[in-house]
Amino acid sequence: MPVHEGAKTSGKIETRLFINNEFVESISGKTFDVFNPYSEEKVASVYEALPEDVDKAVDAAEAALPAWEEMGAIARAEYYYKLADLLEAAGPELAELESKETGQLASRYRENAVGAKGLRMFAGLASDLNGATSLAMPGHVNMVIRQPYGVCGAIVPWNVPILAAIFKMGPALIGGNTLVLKSSEKSPLTALVLARLVKEAGFPPGVFNVLSGYGNPAGAAMASHMKIRKIGFTGSARTGRLIKEAAAKSNLKRVSLELGGKSPLIIFDDANLEAAIPAAAISIIALTGQVCIASSRLYVHSSIADVFQEKLIQAIKKMSANSPEGVDPSSPEAMHQPQVDKAQFENVLKYIELAKESGGEIVLGGKRQTEKGYFIEPTIIRNPDHDSRVSKEEIFGPVLCFNTFEDEDEVMKRANDSEYGLFASLYTKDISRAMRIAKRFESGMVGVNTTSPMTTAPDMPFSGWKASGDGVDLSKASLDLWTQMKTIYIKI
Ligand code: NAD
Repeated sequence: MPVHEGAKTSGKIETRLFINNEFVESISGKTFDVFNPYSEEKVASVYEALPEDVDKAVDAAEAALPAWEEMGAIARAEYYYKLADLLEAAGPELAELESKETGQLASRYRENAVGAKGLRMFAGLASDLNGATSLAMPGHVNMVIRQPYGVCGAIVPWNVPILAAIFKMGPALIGGNTLVLKSSEKSPLTALVLARLVKEAGFPPGVFNVLSGYGNPAGAAMASHMKIRKIGFTGSARTGRLIKEAAAKSNLKRVSLELGGKSPLIIFDDANLEAAIPAAAISIIALTGQVCIASSRLYVHSSIADVFQEKLIQAIKKMSANSPEGVDPSSPEAMHQPQVDKAQFENVLKYIELAKESGGEIVLGGKRQTEKGYFIEPTIIRNPDHDSRVSKEEIFGPVLCFNTFEDEDEVMKRANDSEYGLFASLYTKDISRAMRIAKRFESGMVGVNTTSPMTTAPDMPFSGWKASGDGVDLSKASLDLWTQMKTIYIKI
């Protein structure tokens, strides 16, 4: 994990839209403000895309499409290698900027490094952009080829803005599509740095466009746009439903969704606690719980639950110490980050209030951490009711539901009783049990003797079951999702 001590920005912060390889003001000239969640001060006024700007970006993407598609994937991959190098070099700038707009700890910033690895993996997939042939029909050689959808859209969240963008642009552009990406209104600044790097890497104009703006109107205009043929979305299940609805009511564009989670982590009585305790702590502390795969529901075997709880509390306290005034997340000594904004801060505090009614006991934290900034104490709720809102809903904060269990069938029933199915993990030394549980989990990704967030590999599918989505990020599977099949019959 690279550490960017004394991170620096390269000067002026870019606030314009990125269309056709140019930074431009929005047509209306309208702007919105981005605030620092540590200081609560304004960081920048950013140009806001309205539907007319969406049209302009879509037109640029449409004009760029034929040449980009015709170029071929191997040539397109060359741009990815250049962009990956530029992204790695931009680490300090991105770390500082993201820290200002979302409160992410600059010292633990690694989105640029993971993103660069992802880009190189997608470049490698250029040689996998192929279909199939068949001789099964007498007198024929038949084939399936894979082609781009055309102009596509990506709508991404704020918690990992660079990674979310690369997870969409990676397969979309190598597959020959062109893209209009809308960043989150909470984190538009780092996406504009990515746009600048795309231009520096030499991508042709119009291939990749970035719009800053709100879900409504800009995101909604994309979801119902008649020229956009596919949208890749990462965000909440609530917004995912709206986008599918808008797609159904417009041109039936393809929509792939990567949504939220409420991930279970099961600790069996034979688990290696030296490994499991710090891993459980990091999983709920990283990005202060604002991670889709955070292990937010812990199930510990009752025979070790009290010892586990005590050591977990020690580990979390050590990892998230903060002074009463808070520490600027962009400074190297910062240990704990604030929630991204006032709305998110109030939402998490509301859940902590609900915890008090859930029948559970708050054994750690339970209130705001500092007087200034949106810091919340890491919070553990012991034994909340299984059907309570804190146990069922995604809180997206440093709030852990700590449950105990007696036997495997009982814990699996509770672990799987969730609308979500993104990630799940377990710790045990028994290999048969590990594989049995991995198979029984109703989730798209499983960790065995490891847990999130240390579980993402570029060549492995990142995807959810149930209400956690129907898409795939990363891996060859994501490339298949950004191209469409065509069957050709050839009579010989
Ligand atoms: P969100 O759904 O509020 O917003 C996501 C994006 O959708 C933003 O860009 C927003 O402007 C846009 N949007 C909002 N309303 C829209 C509309 N009506 N039409 C079109 N676009 C609209 O989510 P968020 O708060 O930014 O992100 C947090 C959520 O994202 C959590 O649920 C988290 O679990 C999820 N997430 C999932 C993954 C994953 O890979 N599965 C990764 C990161 C985050």
